[in-house]
Amino acid sequence: MATDPIIGIDLGTTNSLVGVSAWPGPTDLPRILPAADGAHLVPSVVRIDDAGVVVGALAKAQAAEHPRGTIASVKRLMGRGLEDAQADLPYLSYKVVQGPGQTARVQLSDGRLVSPQEVSAHILRALRAQASAALGVQVGRAVITVPAYFDDAQRQATRDAARLAGLEAVRLIAEPTAAALAYGLGLRASSPAQTIVVYDFGGGTFDVSVLRLTPGVGATATAPGADAFEVLATAGDTHLGGDDIDFAIVGWLAGQLQALRPGLPVPSDGQRRALLALAEGAKIELSKSEEVGIDLARALPEGSGGPLRVTLTRAVLEALAGPLIERTIAACGRAVRDARARMEGEGIDAVILVGGSTRMPVVRRRVREHFKIEPYTAIDPDEAVALGAAVQASILSGATTGAMLLDVIPLSLGLETAGGGVAKIIMRNAPVPAEAHEMFSTQVDNQGSIRLNIVQGEREMAGDCRSLGVYHLGGIPAMPAGLPQLRVEFRVDANGILGVCALEQRSGRRLDVQIVPNHGLTRQEVERIERESFAFARQDMARHRIADLIATGALDLGWVRTQLGRYGAGLASEPRGRIEGAVATLSELLERARGDWEAVAADELMRAKEALDHASVPLHELAMTRTLQQGEANEQQPGGKRASP
Ligand code: ADP
Ligand code: MG
Repeated sequence: MATDPIIGIDLGTTNSLVGVSAWPGPTDLPRILPAADGAHLVPSVVRIDDAGVVVGALAKAQAAEHPRGTIASVKRLMGRGLEDAQADLPYLSYKVVQGPGQTARVQLSDGRLVSPQEVSAHILRALRAQASAALGVQVGRAVITVPAYFDDAQRQATRDAARLAGLEAVRLIAEPTAAALAYGLGLRASSPAQTIVVYDFGGGTFDVSVLRLTPGVGATATAPGADAFEVLATAGDTHLGGDDIDFAIVGWLAGQLQALRPGLPVPSDGQRRALLALAEGAKIELSKSEEVGIDLARALPEGSGGPLRVTLTRAVLEALAGPLIERTIAACGRAVRDARARMEGEGIDAVILVGGSTRMPVVRRRVREHFKIEPYTAIDPDEAVALGAAVQASILSGATTGAMLLDVIPLSLGLETAGGGVAKIIMRNAPVPAEAHEMFSTQVDNQGSIRLNIVQGEREMAGDCRSLGVYHLGGIPAMPAGLPQLRVEFRVDANGILGVCALEQRSGRRLDVQIVPNHGLTRQEVERIERESFAFARQDMARHRIADLIATGALDLGWVRTQLGRYGAGLASEPRGRIEGAVATLSELLERARGDWEAVAADELMRAKEALDHASVPLHELAMTRTLQQGEANEQQPGGKRASP
């Protein structure tokens, strides 16, 4: 067992998360440590009253019943005086007064004053307990993220909060820097010098930062981490977020309600809250769907009449959110202008999306249009900051040594094919950037959806490689096996981020995904994988060959059986008997090979397949003649291409 890990904490205004990396072993990937109920996010909400302290989801859920004892968004007060915090006070539901030394204090309903540090400490203590429970060790050290614009007093307040929670804040790093680390930027030995924009659109705040990655700067020579980044400029709006989009939707819903039920009184507080919940739910749904039905009756008191259904389309949502999103884009322009003075004329090399509101397709589109770059979205936008803090923590603890050092693709990237083999698309040691594509088809008639398991590694069978993600390309119209033409393109950019595009050319169905293949990979792990691939090479090749033979053999058998059922009666008994014999032999071999791939020699399987091919020539000919006679052009033998996914 390793010694106690350093955890990474995203101490957010709305939500907080905790993660760990390279623990217990150096090859363990960065991951979020969930609460006992499985939740990743801990709402940054604390309730303090006579009964004690409640933190997180429960405090948030019960906020309406305890308006004065519930403290949300305390991060806005950290290290600030009442004077500095004026603009934030209207957004806080509790009383804030001036405390000792010009610092803001929260006044509880019983008159007690608590400092923002103490409130934050409750959140940190909960995260620490959550991490200790998930890891099974007592955790005492953390890397904590803070906004890039936090000043010394705000940073010191964060450190004090950690100390009160029994945590040593080993390092504070900027949130956008953490997001870049989560993507592995700066972790290569010779990372290119580059300028990176981090666009963070959350619930209540919008921040955009321009970072400069300077290669060769580092905490350790092998794993530079956050030291390699410099914040060139920040801009944003501390009162602009997803909540504002929800308010705009509520305005629209209220208008609909007025039109449907003109006589209704002005909505009460409770109704407004219910409308807000409906609005947020609809907004989140519209990130996936084109329209959503909303029953406004759910926001009205019982007995106000039947259901009141309205439909909100994505187009209407985009019109409502448009002005808010344009404000974020304007801030991007300001940040880049400010940074430019220090940028020596370079352009923007990468854009990273962080924060729940960046799940909205319109946000992604506007950012792409503005920067003329496909933004990075591979990592969950809620988790990127905490994961990056965890990566920095693992570097500082020495657990991650020699992070991803190579300027080439260290491990081959490919796709699982029918039967479980791997079709390698980009080979290891290819220099980045790299791109390649392959054509595939289907194995089964009328396959409506194609499963894409993207894998990394040198072994021949997908099960022995690392799966980078499983995706589904659906909506393929009914076609015989082998007819769909699936073009799968892999592109790895200079930062090692993999973009996969799968296009079924007959239907135009398309899937685009982004993956961070080298997430958490260390040189040691790459070397181990290489060694294993040599050790297993002979066995793996044989196994891959058997897997492909099983897949294509099954396809042949299926075809022959179908045709035999249709036209078999038209064959003389002698050729027919030969076909049936070959079918029996091959299916028996396939059965055995499926049970244990080593039970059958590849050559024997190959011979049985060839024997079936040979025996079924008369059946082919008969089928062809009949097909021509019937003008049946909709049936096709698979092209004998490689096995398909
Ligand atoms: P913060 O950084 O302020 O702590 P988050 O990054 O957690 O906030 O973002 C919370 C916001 O993201 C909320 O306004 C929420 O409604 C919004 N959000 C979460 N998921 C989605 C989604 N799928 N589509 C649109 N907005 C979303
Ligand atoms: Mg955030």
